[in-house]
Parts: sequence; structure tokens; C-alpha cells
Amino acid sequence: MIHENLLQVEEKIQRACDNGKRSRKDVTLIAVSKTKPIEDIYEAIESNIMVFGENKVQDLVAKMDTIDKPVEWHFIGHLQRNKVKYLVGRVALIHSVDSFRLAEQINIESKNKNVVTNVLIEVNMAREESKYGVMPEDAESLIHLISKLTNIKVLGLMTIAPYTQNAEENRNYFKNLRKLLVDINAKNIDNVIMSVLSMGMTGDYTIAIEEGATYIRVGTGIFGAR
Ligand SMILES: *Cc1c(COP(=O)(O)O)cnc(C)c1O
Repeated sequence: MIHENLLQVEEKIQRACDNGKRSRKDVTLIAVSKTKPIEDIYEAIESNIMVFGENKVQDLVAKMDTIDKPVEWHFIGHLQRNKVKYLVGRVALIHSVDSFRLAEQINIESKNKNVVTNVLIEVNMAREESKYGVMPEDAESLIHLISKLTNIKVLGLMTIAPYTQNAEENRNYFKNLRKLLVDINAKNIDNVIMSVLSMGMTGDYTIAIEEGATYIRVGTGIFGAR
């Protein structure tokens, strides 16, 4: 079933790229395997998926320790400072930095391991009480502060749009995240040139692609309901 789902998802990605005049190679599909068993991940790998996302540190570490294929892991969930050490040096990208304290901890662990950790700033575009992420107006100052840290690099922005039956309702959040990225780039902050937009999930990834997503995070659409 995962194979068939992936064929469908790929078709929809291609159509959205066409609609948005995007090149398919500029959009990376992250298969969100959270709560799903190892066998499902291997099935996706069989279908040439090599980028996976998880939202719990413990689950991610268990899966990284088990899967013996050269896959790329992304951390997409809320991150506590005491768990940063389990991720640094092992994940390609942390999508969910939303405070300077967290960034500082990532920087400390990265220095210890002599690596530079790539991160995105999570922005709460819809200003939902229940969500993590910085408010849009606070993103620039946070990025400015983080830009002074030597072992952490901000590659772009991430958002989790509201759950909705009608994905069109989220179009403006995606459009505005892209605008925010362009605006912050225009400030010419030293060491900051952002190019990554992580936005769009099963319900709304086609809209996100039309609005400039470079990473889409798709779970249910690939692995089925959780
Ligand atoms: C679970 C999750 C996804 C995937 O959600 P689906 O609706 O199943 O595609 C994407 N991003 C984040 C941050 C998630 O936690």
C-alpha cells in the first residue's frame, strides 16, 4: 500500500510543481514515519524514499539505530533542551527551533562534537495558542541572535498550518512564510542566507508547493492513518 500511496503523492507533487511553475527537483518529500513501524520505513525505502521525519527524540533515535540504510533523518517535533544531545551530529536538519535558549543548547552540543547543525526557525503563522513556534514578527530578531552562534546554521523557515478540510484556507500562511523569508534575507544579516521553506502536510502540501515549499512533510498520505 505504501508503494501505491507514494505513486499518488508523487503525481500530486508533480502537478503542483507544474501549477506553481516549480521544478520538481526543488521540492523534497520528507516521509513522516512517526508512530509507524520499521517495516513501513523499509517499504518506503524500497520505493526510493531516502528522507524521513520524526517528531519524538526517543523514537527517532531508536529508528536511526535500527535502519541500516543511508537515509537522511529530519527532526520535526518540539525539542526539549535536555534532548538536543541525542540529535546533534545525527540529523540532517532540525525543523523546530523557536527560542534562543534552544539554539544555544544546539550550539553547545555542536561545538562539543565539532559539527555545524542545520536548523529551521519554526514560525506560528496562524498565531494558534496551541502551537509552538515564534510569532512572525519575532522571527527576524531570533535569527539575528542565532547568527552570532558559530556552530548552528539557519537554513530557512518552517510552519505547521492549521488543520482544515479546505487546504485553500492555508494558502496565505504559506505565502506569508515565503514573504517573511524574502524580507529577512533582504536585511543582509551576517552569515544568514535562507533558502529553505518547510511547509505543507498531507492535507495541504499541493498548496504549499504552489507557494514555494522546498520541503513538504507527508505522513498519512504515505503511511496511512495513525
Ligand atoms: C505529523 C506531522 C506531519 C505529517 O502530518 P500528516 O498530516 O500525517 O501528513 C508533518 N509535520 C509535522 C511537524 C508533524 O508533526
